[in-house]
Amino acid sequence: MKLDVDVLRYLSKDDFRVLTAVELGMRNHEIVPAELIDRIARLKHGGTYKVLKNLLKHKLLHHDSTKYDGFRLTYLGYDFLAIKTMVNKGVFVSVGRQIGVGKESDIFEVADEDGKIMAMKLHRLGRVSFRAVKSKRDYLKHRSSYNWLYLSRLAALKEFAFMKALQTHGFPVPEAVEHNRHCVIMSLVQGYPLVQVKQLQNPETVFETIIGIIIRLAEHGLIHCDFNEFNIMIDDEEKITVIDFPQMVSVSHRNAKMYFDRDVECIFKFFRKRFNMTFQESIDDNDNSNEGREEAGKLCFSSIDSSAGFLDKELAASGFGKKDEEDIQRFIEGEVESDTNSDSEDGDLVRNLNEADDLNVDSLHLSEQVIYPLAFVVIQDPLAMGNG
Ligand code: ADP
Ligand code: MG
Repeated sequence: MKLDVDVLRYLSKDDFRVLTAVELGMRNHEIVPAELIDRIARLKHGGTYKVLKNLLKHKLLHHDSTKYDGFRLTYLGYDFLAIKTMVNKGVFVSVGRQIGVGKESDIFEVADEDGKIMAMKLHRLGRVSFRAVKSKRDYLKHRSSYNWLYLSRLAALKEFAFMKALQTHGFPVPEAVEHNRHCVIMSLVQGYPLVQVKQLQNPETVFETIIGIIIRLAEHGLIHCDFNEFNIMIDDEEKITVIDFPQMVSVSHRNAKMYFDRDVECIFKFFRKRFNMTFQESIDDNDNSNEGREEAGKLCFSSIDSSAGFLDKELAASGFGKKDEEDIQRFIEGEVESDTNSDSEDGDLVRNLNEADDLNVDSLHLSEQVIYPLAFVVIQDPLAMGNG
């Protein structure tokens, strides 16, 4: 997806205020009624409808009038809210080229004031299966509906929390810098995804390192669940960095063994095919203790001395709780249940209009200033953004 940050240049304070009002409305509404947006935004001189038109023009909102006249954020609109918040905080000042497209994410380079380049991951959970999710909408009657906004935010929070915890425990992962909404800022990994590498100087060593990480993760009570050549980065010194954490689970998960075996098999298969490796000898030769390994050279999940609990304690410290994990896991595993009887837009609307009175948009600290991107590279003049 194209992220034209240049558009930020043309957005006014009112634009962001209305955009934020739509975001707030989406807590209870898949499509936010225009009048509700107007009531939340409370623009001093009115004109919400004109602003809505402008946001629509820039594709930051989507208009839907199938049931009633309403709007929802697009990915781009949500991107801009996150980017603006981060820029206001001084996390970065410019957005550069796209460096990755995952199944459910877009990754861009960003740079801070000192020119340090980092990676920005914008989660797009539900992109693949958005239609499926949409058709099963309203499965949660209350605030935290399972819309893509909520899921993508959850994925970012989980990714940030895991990266931070793994980093603390000495795992080779990117440094977790900041998160906001569906966006995670992390250090830029030098190197390439392993899938792009055709030759290695020391394939055995690389293989051992990677398998060692799987074992050590399990010893810490964790399984990556998407541990493959796309999520392992390798640099010219053949140093490994593991990325992509939203789908990780605890070793106490009921399907833990299946996930673990799948991760292991992915690595074995890749090294067998790409580097013509056979494993029985190399594993046993290089390792005195056969702990955690079967005779066939494969790892045995049950013989790894796992200490579960790592998840709960340390991740909760980053704001990622048990309920969050349950919610995101239910989505990832496709167990989101349909509940077609709970579609009570009118009840929602009344509740929302009442709530709107309590919502103090000013407390959101909407910046007085707009982000001023200079073409594609520099988003704004950092000196002009001091009052965020
Ligand atoms: P997804 O969950 O969509 O698969 P990933 O986190 O795996 O997203 O990222 C997709 C791609 O973006 C990766 O394969 C990699 O090429 C690139 N990428 C992701 N994070 C970084 C990073 N921190 N530094 C450099 N490249 C990255
Ligand atoms: Mg990936």
